[in-house]
Amino acid sequence: MREEFLVFGSPRIEEDEIDEVVSCLRSGWIGTGPRVAAFERLFAKYKGAEHAVAVNSCTAALHLSILAADIGPGDEVITTPMTFCASVNAIIHAGATPVLADVDPLTMNIDPARIAEKITSKTKAILPVHFAGRCCDMDPICALAQKHNLTIIEDCAHAIETEYKGRKAGCFGDFGCFSFYVTKNIITGEGGLIVAKYPKHAARLKVLALHGMSSDAWKRFGDEGYKHYLVTEAGFKYNMMDLQAALGLKQMAKVEAYWKRRAEIWQHYLTALNDLPVTLPAPVEPLTRHGYHLFTLLVDKERTGVSRDEFLGRMTQAKIGVGVHYLSVPEHPYYQERFGWNPDDYPHARDIGRQTVSLPMSAKLRDQDVEDVIRAVRQSLA
Ligand SMILES: *Cc1c(COP(=O)(O)O)cnc(C)c1O
Repeated sequence: MREEFLVFGSPRIEEDEIDEVVSCLRSGWIGTGPRVAAFERLFAKYKGAEHAVAVNSCTAALHLSILAADIGPGDEVITTPMTFCASVNAIIHAGATPVLADVDPLTMNIDPARIAEKITSKTKAILPVHFAGRCCDMDPICALAQKHNLTIIEDCAHAIETEYKGRKAGCFGDFGCFSFYVTKNIITGEGGLIVAKYPKHAARLKVLALHGMSSDAWKRFGDEGYKHYLVTEAGFKYNMMDLQAALGLKQMAKVEAYWKRRAEIWQHYLTALNDLPVTLPAPVEPLTRHGYHLFTLLVDKERTGVSRDEFLGRMTQAKIGVGVHYLSVPEHPYYQERFGWNPDDYPHARDIGRQTVSLPMSAKLRDQDVEDVIRAVRQSLA
């Protein structure tokens, strides 16, 4: 057995990131400033997007996008039960009502046919989540949005590198929301970003992200003379710091190299675990690019003799950190009480949530770590 515990989702951080953070500290400007602006430009260029607004989390990005779309009380937003709670909480914080549409059991992404069934006169937006980095089936989702005049807000927390038929995830609708949380493909510690299609949305997002102060406020302590700001609405404290952007700038330079490394690990897991009685991720769809954020196994006690939770315990004992992405949203008591949601009404998400295990997939993993994970999986199922 390995000596050291393999922490799940531990990010790869190299000397140049450390140096950039130190330069930022020495520069005397650690709040929102030139590094954030440079990070926004770099990210927009990578996505081929017009506008990028950096914030302090993907949760903030989702919340502000819903507000900037003028969605609020009385409005419904359709999303997936197979996501992190933040996707749903952001809808609630905007004052709107979340509505769930079950996933496709193979792709684990929201099923466009189930979305169609949930559209009412109150529906204002679809919030698809590109689960594990696999792109949702965007053609039918965009067709539904067009037909019913709905905004699309993409949760791209897993999907920085994801593409679908030559188009990049985050650029299908009006808003694409990204996360740079410590376990994500590119990290800034805490951090998020919105790519926006329209300049009016980008401008509103900037104001909302900094107390609702007019845009000059971002520069009010600069060397161009004191700038008065005017508060135009009750905004939030969601801005990204230069200290965070320092990490992000250096990480973005490695986004493709890290993606290649995760693609390699993914292929290796697929081959090495192929003979086991577990369900491996579905093949990547033609004409798409997977972000390779999560590698999930489904552990079904009927087939393996081991329950998912027993498997999690055995992996941890073998010093391999594992994750669960996710118990389906309707499993949580808050949503059951508030919306009357029942996991049995979303059976595909329910089953995935009760069987799924995520294996380590960070670009930081060494070949030996990957071998250790494979050995631990085999032993835990024996
Ligand atoms: C991580 C995650 C979020 C939240 O991102 P933060 O940057 O931590 O706020 C939202 N949605 C999904 C699908 C995520 O995995």
